[in-house]
Amino acid sequence: MPDSAAAFPSMDPVLALIDGREDELVALTQDLIRIPTINPPGDFYRPCAELIGERLRKRGFEVTYLRAEGTPGDSDRYPRINVVARWESGRAGPCVHFNSHIDVVEPGAGWTVDPFGGVLKDGRVYGRGACDMKGGLAASMIAIEALIDSGVELPGAIEISGTADEESGGYGGVAWLAERGWFSPPRVDHVIIPEPLNVDRVCIGHRGVWWAEIETKGRIAHGSMPFLGDSAIRHMSAVLEKFEHELYPALGERHSQMPVAPDGARTSSLNINSLHGGQGEDFLGLPAPLVADSCRMIIDRRFLIEESLEDVKGEVTDLLETLVRDRPGFTYGLRELFAVAPTMADRDGPVATATAEAIRRVLGRPAQFICSPGTYDQKHVDRIGKLKDCIAYGPGVLDLAHQPDEWVGVDDMIASAKVMALAAAALLARQG
Ligand SMILES: [Zn+2]
Repeated sequence: MPDSAAAFPSMDPVLALIDGREDELVALTQDLIRIPTINPPGDFYRPCAELIGERLRKRGFEVTYLRAEGTPGDSDRYPRINVVARWESGRAGPCVHFNSHIDVVEPGAGWTVDPFGGVLKDGRVYGRGACDMKGGLAASMIAIEALIDSGVELPGAIEISGTADEESGGYGGVAWLAERGWFSPPRVDHVIIPEPLNVDRVCIGHRGVWWAEIETKGRIAHGSMPFLGDSAIRHMSAVLEKFEHELYPALGERHSQMPVAPDGARTSSLNINSLHGGQGEDFLGLPAPLVADSCRMIIDRRFLIEESLEDVKGEVTDLLETLVRDRPGFTYGLRELFAVAPTMADRDGPVATATAEAIRRVLGRPAQFICSPGTYDQKHVDRIGKLKDCIAYGPGVLDLAHQPDEWVGVDDMIASAKVMALAAAALLARQG
């Protein structure tokens, strides 16, 4: 690992420039928040992409807009517009890419400020997407603009992208771009995703996800003579019993080498997302007396880098097959809804060490390496782009994401912009 003096020769002018651009950083964050890029349905992607692209074009970036045609949700009304901006130093060298998603989730209830007003109060910018992740996007843009304007000698290239649909899986955003080579060497060598994972933490990866629907089946009959039918709900209760007594204890025993934060998420986990059996809940008047012939449950299983997706599925299937053997009348259906493999970058790799070193320089304390309990677009960079040297680092408190009165601290944005500028410079200098 390079020492800080060698990694950051004469970077003080860059840090001073970033300090001097605090008002500009706040204004850019506010401008981004004021475009309500709510997903679903995926609104206002084009003006948001153009705000990013036209600003960077004026600063010498080559800007490309790409519509992910035919991806989920894409239509002429809601086109999946992505923007990739590239700055070339003119000297051979690697490429560092900063990727931010431009979509936000719906505001929901409970706000005390306008969720799309970009209110600045007591050193915080409020709004839907302030922390997840328009504050991080703005910080990365100010960081790189300052780095370029400072006149420090930089080899290689820097890219900044604003991509669609991260909140709905990234299929119209990073996944689509990665399939077309936008996140692979030799075009790109190192990726930083400014998701809100706290200003002193380097996030090297995330757990895997498996969502599935389990259906138990029965036979309909009159509710006064349930012995003439077969209750799908009672069959499902046998599944739940197995979960309680076998699956949950087994999952709780599994501990990961992944440094997942918070600690509670360092094991395998299972959430029962929803459960429904029998008649729908939208009938008028009273329900009819019926034995339920179907019961459906959606499960959300989060798994560790030590587990394989096949094992995760097999564990649930084995449990259901045991019931087929042991429980008279038990039949089931199993349908996969969504699957994401876990991913983890090398914490001793270039992007993680450069960012950690920059955190130490800017904040004066060591960086913490973590993994995220949930997923984000790193999976696509890794699995589709085949680029391992990717981390998440950005301002904002993870717990505030998707909450009412979401905010990002101006001090955190300034500090993270400095970290991103130093990390980018160090990464470019590595092979320059
Ligand atoms: Zn996010």
